[in-house]
Amino acid sequence: KRVIANRYEVKKRLGHGNYGTAWLVQDRRTKDEKDKLKVLKEIPVGELQPDETLDVKHEADLQRNLDHPSIVKFYDCFVDGENFCIITEYCEGGDLDVKIHECKKKGQVIPEYQVVEWLIQLLLAVQYMHDRRVLHRDLKSRNVFLRNNMIKIGDFGISRILMGTTDMASTFIGTPFYMSPEVLKHEGYNAKSDVWSLGCLLYELVALKHAFEGQSLMGVMYKIVEGDLPEWPKPYSQNLQEVFHKLLIKDPAKRPSASEVLKTPFIASEIEQLK
Ligand code: ADP
Ligand code: MG
Repeated sequence: KRVIANRYEVKKRLGHGNYGTAWLVQDRRTKDEKDKLKVLKEIPVGELQPDETLDVKHEADLQRNLDHPSIVKFYDCFVDGENFCIITEYCEGGDLDVKIHECKKKGQVIPEYQVVEWLIQLLLAVQYMHDRRVLHRDLKSRNVFLRNNMIKIGDFGISRILMGTTDMASTFIGTPFYMSPEVLKHEGYNAKSDVWSLGCLLYELVALKHAFEGQSLMGVMYKIVEGDLPEWPKPYSQNLQEVFHKLLIKDPAKRPSASEVLKTPFIASEIEQLK
């Protein structure tokens, strides 16, 4: 049985990502049954470039300072031999990408009340980070987890704290499906670009496919920058469609912030009903 740092008992391998491996571990020091299971991300330091080591430290520091019910809880980070380790909350419900694929395979749809509830949780979490000048930068279904059917945003792998309004490091490279027009036009990543990604996520929840698809990377990019919005699936309401249209306004200056979306009448009344 492998035990890391004399404390974390490895239970199983969750998967491998860009940097390292994610393990499900049991924390020997946690008394609380429901929080015994945690995720340990093990990143071999030797494989990291110096600037990437900074990225990893940054990921840790960003998450440490965020405390929100819909953001994956950060517990600890440390160096263990050759590895940098990050301990976070375990989200037993898996990620939204898996959920979406499961629904698709079974021929099911996600009911509107569920989509709206998750959308509100996503908006509240994003509002919370943006209030603290933290951008996520990589919001996608693979980075959104479920725990007790509650949304938990994780993986601040390439997030950055906005140092000032002029700092919009625009070297964003990732999956193209969630990239905003302004990012593709090299106009810089900003809080509104996270809002765009939420629009893409909303569409994935209702249509069980990406909002912008194409035969090639260029095709996807063209649709994002120039193309019309994809068709809205019939079973979902016009109110929700209007929110979708707002999230995917191509001009970031006209696109609402997360808090503005939360104040739209439809979303505000849904929040009232959830209380
Ligand atoms: P990537 O996101 O690049 O695929 P990660 O190392 O972040 O790589 O994750 C590897 C696997 O572990 C993924 O399948 C992911 O869904 C899972 N995973 C990561 N973090 C958590 C978590 N907090 N709770 C549950 N599963 C997780
Ligand atoms: Mg990940």
